[in-house]
Amino acid sequence: MTKDPLLSQSRRDILLGASAGVMALSAPARLRAATPKHVLVAGGGFAGSTAAKYLRVWGDPSLQVTLVDPEKSHTSCVMSNLVLNRSLRLRDLRFPLSGLESYGVTVLRAKVDKVDPAAMSVKLDSGETVGYDKLVLTGGVSFIGPDGWSARTAPHAWKAGAQTTLLRNRIEAMPAGGTFIMTIPKSPYRCPPGPYERACTVAEVLHSNPGARVVVLDANAGIQATKVSFTRAFNELYSGIIDYRPNVEVESVEAGAGLVHTNAGTFRGDVINIIPTHRASALVRRAGAVPKGSKWAPVDPLSYASTLAGYENIHVIGDSQGTGQPKSGHMANAQAKVCADAILRILAGESIDTLARVRAVTTNSACFSPITADEASWLTAVFAYDETTGEMRVVPGSLAESGGWSRENYREMFDWSNNLWTDTFK
Ligand SMILES: Cc1cc2nc3c(=O)[nH]c(=O)nc-3n(C[C@H](O)[C@H](O)[C@H](O)COP(=O)(O)OP(=O)(O)OC[C@H]3O[C@@H](n4cnc5c(N)ncnc54)[C@H](O)[C@@H]3O)c2cc1C
Repeated sequence: MTKDPLLSQSRRDILLGASAGVMALSAPARLRAATPKHVLVAGGGFAGSTAAKYLRVWGDPSLQVTLVDPEKSHTSCVMSNLVLNRSLRLRDLRFPLSGLESYGVTVLRAKVDKVDPAAMSVKLDSGETVGYDKLVLTGGVSFIGPDGWSARTAPHAWKAGAQTTLLRNRIEAMPAGGTFIMTIPKSPYRCPPGPYERACTVAEVLHSNPGARVVVLDANAGIQATKVSFTRAFNELYSGIIDYRPNVEVESVEAGAGLVHTNAGTFRGDVINIIPTHRASALVRRAGAVPKGSKWAPVDPLSYASTLAGYENIHVIGDSQGTGQPKSGHMANAQAKVCADAILRILAGESIDTLARVRAVTTNSACFSPITADEASWLTAVFAYDETTGEMRVVPGSLAESGGWSRENYREMFDWSNNLWTDTFK
């Protein structure tokens, strides 16, 4: 029996992202296209920055790669819950996109407003039209908020930046014995353990506020990830502080009065943190890459090319794609490498039909979650392409969680995030 190369990799390697996302995908030799080609990457987050970097690292030197993002730096959501307890500052999470210029990526500070798949061009908010041979769309997620909700009055802090600061300031200004209400949307949403990790972080901050409570209203039937650790943390460590309620769906919000109306009655809080329902980014939806009635972009996981007719030269990676793999920064980084490899092979004239045979396509994801001020838990899984269904499936035996929290995990969380940021943005 041959040994599965995925499972022979140590769990530690996977967790620390020593080879984030490229475990079975060896870097291709420089792939040469017949004539110089141009790949345009829209969005410089975890997915887009990794794709732009690896297209240049693995591609022929003549390959032109342009990365377009309206921001000068990307602010990482990964580790952003630690801004809420002041363990980190937002500036620790900012990564200048100019870092990719050293690989030969052209970085344009602009927003992609329109995509014309037939003309193979995009229109920027500057009015400029830019052509492409291949287009990679990202953009993360966009939100569908409940009635009466606004991000100003009930911040989500689910995109790192001003929202994170706003929520932190409100937590710090909570009255004595106050109530923090947070809501979790139905899956899929970005970072499956993220909301439960936030509940722990806020509960830990509120330890010094006697009588203060964290009410978690979860639209799902139960904890979605790292279940063993969070169940123990909620029931033991933060018993009397965290009040976890599954199957509670938000119907409307009156933030001024501190009211959240749900299918399980009305809850009153002093600080309200609404994490709304997710869907593909406005960029991807406006490009027409999401069919009517769907929230995510359908793609072929061998290349992340859109499966919609007329969209063959458009690839969608990261949170906006709809393969069913977890929506995480680590996963976005892994998908970007699969996509970059596929684009280079296609531009070099390889048939997409042979890709499955020549490439053992795998991706992986890891999430560390702070549980206390200096202890964390972790969760990891490996996905592999299943030729029978054409889908990415969890590799049996690869899904694992720490089953508790420790100081060592907390230290490794910083190694893991530094590896991921370096591999993505530097
Ligand atoms: C609190 C929190 C904690 C998290 N923790 C973890 C974790 O521990 N581990 C983990 O792996 N993941 C974690 N995540 C999830 C992770 O942040 C996302 O899954 C990841 O950011 C997705 O990458 P992306 O490239 O799809 O989107 P993003 O990283 O959001 O990047 C999107 C980019 O697109 C740009 N953009 C948007 N519109 C346009 C446009 N029209 N034109 C050009 N550019 C545009 C934006 O400016 C942005 O730079 C966490 C998320 C949150 C909210």
